[in-house]
Amino acid sequence: DPPMAPATSTTVPCQYRTGKTLGSGTYAIVKEAVHIKTGKYYACKVINKKLMEGREYMVRNEIAVLKRVSKGHKNIVTLHDYFETTHNLYLCFDLCTGGELFDRICAKGNYFEADAANLVRTIMAAVDYIHDCGIVHRDLKPENLLFRDKREDADIMIADFGLSRVMEEEKLQLLTEICGTPGYMAPEIFKKSGHGKPVDIWAMGVITYFLLCGYTPFDRDTQEQEMQAIIAGDYAFEPAEYWQNVSEVAKSFVTDCLTIDPRNRPTAKEALQHKWLASDQPHFVADT
Ligand code: ADP
Ligand code: MG
Repeated sequence: DPPMAPATSTTVPCQYRTGKTLGSGTYAIVKEAVHIKTGKYYACKVINKKLMEGREYMVRNEIAVLKRVSKGHKNIVTLHDYFETTHNLYLCFDLCTGGELFDRICAKGNYFEADAANLVRTIMAAVDYIHDCGIVHRDLKPENLLFRDKREDADIMIADFGLSRVMEEEKLQLLTEICGTPGYMAPEIFKKSGHGKPVDIWAMGVITYFLLCGYTPFDRDTQEQEMQAIIAGDYAFEPAEYWQNVSEVAKSFVTDCLTIDPRNRPTAKEALQHKWLASDQPHFVADT
């Protein structure tokens, strides 16, 4: 089915008043917006048409994907409304007031292992849902994982389907374009050998590593060195002082997700069965 605006689409853009900026990316600025009639708050992604010229399909794609996945899962941001003016395209989402996972990791230094496992389990279950819908997110990273509210135990939400793709179910259509954020990109993306759902599992491995120690596994001085490290799977659970309180079962989860060959990497369902996520019991160093 061809991508089109959601059923709630409207051509009356002055129903919202935009406020402070919540964040920004390559093509978009996300602003707080209040629906004038109801007084309800939303997050409004404002996309400049001129900047997007020739790439309008990316926004149509994002809307099509959101129509497929949002509302179906409580950990995926919901698209409420979509409209355009002469200069801009507007996507109105549920407002997540709790900020990005990225900022919480930076503020904490790192997460306690049991808290990290709970977050990773929740995100992985949402990834499993997305994959079952035939969609690859392709840009999973802590900047695109948002907390619904400011509470410590707030729901975590997957946002930013701007780079996601609908995969033809059984046809295993392989994507070859280079996309994403270098540090979270899987080796097969650089090898241009085609990629699909496993790239999201790789990114989950990088995110888990980051949660547990507070830095990313393939961080290097240059992007070229970073890419070479990713292709070689060159990372370690070092320096030791950052990893001494992390269990072997947590490390084995990261190792599984960071399997170089995508065919041998666990699926989201398999990852959810990993010992680290399968039980609610925290794994302490002593039990390894
Ligand atoms: P881009 O494609 O430009 O990266 P995103 O959809 O990731 O756009 O939005 C950019 C930033 O805006 C996010 O990293 C986040 O900080 C903020 N943001 C996006 N959606 C929401 C939302 N629903 N609620 C609150 N903040 C949001
Ligand atoms: Mg983003």
